[in-house]
Amino acid sequence: MEKSLVIIKPDGVQRGLVGEILGRLERRGLRLVAMKMQSVSPELAARHYAVHQGKPFYDGLVSYISSSPVVVLAVEGNKAIEAVRQTVGATNPTAAAPGTIRADFGLEIGRNLIHASDGPETAAQELALWFGPEEFVSWSRDGERWVYEK
Ligand code: UDP
Ligand code: MG
Repeated sequence: MEKSLVIIKPDGVQRGLVGEILGRLERRGLRLVAMKMQSVSPELAARHYAVHQGKPFYDGLVSYISSSPVVVLAVEGNKAIEAVRQTVGATNPTAAAPGTIRADFGLEIGRNLIHASDGPETAAQELALWFGPEEFVSWSRDGERWVYEK
């Protein structure tokens, strides 16, 4: 099974959408395996978004993500990385498909509510950046046979 790193960004927390966003991921069938609320230092933001350093939106992105607390979580499931990205929607909320989190709650790319890992390598790096090994909880959801055929 795969794990994906999800961050409910400051706008998601400030707008009271934590429960809504968590609910969508839970109802998809994904299993929550780590979660915490925290402030984000500009240093941590810079490490998380290192790949975007030098891009025109980089400074705004780092100040956005470190402007107010976030909720950071890890979810686990079959094809979890792809499934979460699908539930999150395209980066620009006005280009995201209706029914996705970004389309349903956002209007601008610079306030798009949520981060999700985009592949197995970035997921592994991001999970290690945001969580220590002891913060992951290993458990199974009762009724997973009603989510997974095998
Ligand atoms: N972003 C932005 N302007 C842009 C592109 C990206 O503000 O033109 C921000 C936005 O918050 C996005 C984040 O930078 O979520 C990371 O960009 P990426 O292309 O990795 O999008 P994501 O993986 O979050 O969909
Ligand atoms: Mg990305």
